[in-house]
Amino acid sequence: MSLPPVARFTTSTGVKIYRISCQAFPGLVAHCYLLVGAGPVTLVDTGSGYGDSTRHIFEGFEAIRREFGESLGLRDVERVIITHGHMDHFGGLAQVTGPITAEVGIHELDKWVLVSYEERVLVATKAMGFYLEQAGVVPERRARLLELYGEGKQHVRSVRVDFTLFDGQELDGIRVIHTPGHCPGQVCLLIGDVLLSADHVLPRTTPHQNPESITAWTGLGHYLEALARIGRVDGIRLALGGHEQPIERFYDRLEEIRTDHERKLDRIAGILTEPGGLTIQELSDRMYRGLTGWNVLLALTEIGAHVEYLYERGALRVVNVDELRDQLNPALRYRVG
Ligand SMILES: [Zn+2]
Ligand SMILES: [Zn+2]
Repeated sequence: MSLPPVARFTTSTGVKIYRISCQAFPGLVAHCYLLVGAGPVTLVDTGSGYGDSTRHIFEGFEAIRREFGESLGLRDVERVIITHGHMDHFGGLAQVTGPITAEVGIHELDKWVLVSYEERVLVATKAMGFYLEQAGVVPERRARLLELYGEGKQHVRSVRVDFTLFDGQELDGIRVIHTPGHCPGQVCLLIGDVLLSADHVLPRTTPHQNPESITAWTGLGHYLEALARIGRVDGIRLALGGHEQPIERFYDRLEEIRTDHERKLDRIAGILTEPGGLTIQELSDRMYRGLTGWNVLLALTEIGAHVEYLYERGALRVVNVDELRDQLNPALRYRVG
């Protein structure tokens, strides 16, 4: 996979935004953004720290000097903002900031992922195991999925955080907008007429959703609310996400994503009509065939987020209440009505 070259964008307020791309994981390119002209030189996100990710970021800085004549390097970065506590956005933090003394900021709801990483991985893995059991995944498969879930998380250690971000905060012409859903502490950053939309809004992919039963402040309800909220922010000419290409028709894209979720909700409700109900695993088998590896986990959590959304709003019921009464964590069977 070839990396997109470093690109420069200029906001209506004269801030220069350099996009630096890195190979975060095999098959996944992530973008970091360097902001010049919005107070102290600021780096937004730091890649995964996995494989060649950090080297790609260092090379990006060289390209900014060489191709754009910017006389600055990594040592000039005084502030690092992490858009959300997912590995492909913060995993490289220690490697990138190791040689420098930049202040690091993240939303308070994702702070614990950074400062207490090892504990967070344990808590999240335990919650995922509980969820998969409730989703009706058989023990052997569950163990394999949990092993996969832990992979790619081992190279990271806890790091310090110097300041926390909050909704409405203004940082030298950077406005922080809290958009929970894809991640609890997900933020978008508005700089003039350009929005750094992180993983809240992507141009091609509908951002992945987790059930809130695994992590509070995720879930489709929070996400759709945050999607509507960002749509009420006027004057966004261009959005730059954490992955994929720039988004020029930002408001149309919001509508596409919303429609995509509505279609998925309708489809799920259309399948869950059998009197005996279906587990999330069974639902996943009906909706997606031949999934392997990480995609199995993505499908089970994405479907779970939609089932949870419908259940919370009274559109679904749990059929096997007797098992629920008698057992600690039975597989839940859902049906409409
Ligand atoms: Zn993410
Ligand atoms: Zn991402």
